[in-house]
Amino acid sequence: MQKISIAIHGGAGTILKEDMTPALEEAYRHGLSEALQAGYAVLENGGTAINSVKAAVVVLEDNPLFNAGKGSVFTKKGLNEMDAAIMDGSTLEAGAIAGVRNIRNPVELAEEVMLHSGHVFLSGKGANDFAIRQGIKLESDDYFYSQYRYDQWREIRDSDLYQLDHKNDKLVGLLKGKKFGTVGAVACDGDGNIAAATSTGGMTNKRFGRIGDSPMIGIGTYANNKTCAISCTGHGEIFIKAVAAYDVSCLMEYKNMSLQHACEEVVLKKLVVLNGEGGLIGMDAKGNAALVFNSAGMYRGLKNSDGQNEVAIYGD
Ligand code: ASP
Repeated sequence: MQKISIAIHGGAGTILKEDMTPALEEAYRHGLSEALQAGYAVLENGGTAINSVKAAVVVLEDNPLFNAGKGSVFTKKGLNEMDAAIMDGSTLEAGAIAGVRNIRNPVELAEEVMLHSGHVFLSGKGANDFAIRQGIKLESDDYFYSQYRYDQWREIRDSDLYQLDHKNDKLVGLLKGKKFGTVGAVACDGDGNIAAATSTGGMTNKRFGRIGDSPMIGIGTYANNKTCAISCTGHGEIFIKAVAAYDVSCLMEYKNMSLQHACEEVVLKKLVVLNGEGGLIGMDAKGNAALVFNSAGMYRGLKNSDGQNEVAIYGD
């Protein structure tokens, strides 16, 4: 069996040690470890990359610390509208959903779209109707409520500001705040198949049915055994303009770059020129991983059969 490996992220942004209490840092590290273990356990038991990324993302969606599933931020209307995607690099099958409400685990709905809808990308009410038809787990609005997210929203709900869980006020006029979120995973299984999944509540105070990069195939999420599996986190609007995930794949396919080099090219050069703060995680079909960000920090983790098993938050 070849090397098995999983990498995860829980969002990138202005994550500074001085803003963190030891207890909160421990809670983040614990949450990341739990997700990493869940995803790795699937691989260790001979499971597929797609099941591994799903398992890891479900754990992160259930953790209120991260802006996805239970911890999703509030929209301008005080709702929780979530986006997610999943892609199988061995088949190029993909499923995605945007603007869904009351779905406990959006990544499971994305997978259901991939497997049983005959489509790739469903949005809003239609996606919710599909979820009900397929028996996907629903939760009441209360499940998604947390004082922390509510206060984050209350601070800016009467303004036109929106708030990413990433911040660099100097770079983006309309952005405010510095909380962190969005979750994702990439994995390589024992058969050399790779997969990616991403899930998010998007941005606090988002309006007009705004959709970020996370659920867009080729932008926030992509997987292709020939090149790489990618999950992004950062300022979605810019990642969309940069066609971020697929760009990494193209650099590998057409320019023969290594995974690490291609990820650095997109995150440290292309996105920086566009003022796109954030990062991404990547995996190739040999189990090599890359975790690259241009922000102060990125919640992240990596575990593989070479014995690496680490979670990290800040830059060097
Ligand atoms: N990329 C996500 C979005 O723009 C946000 C994030 O990664 O925190 O919706």
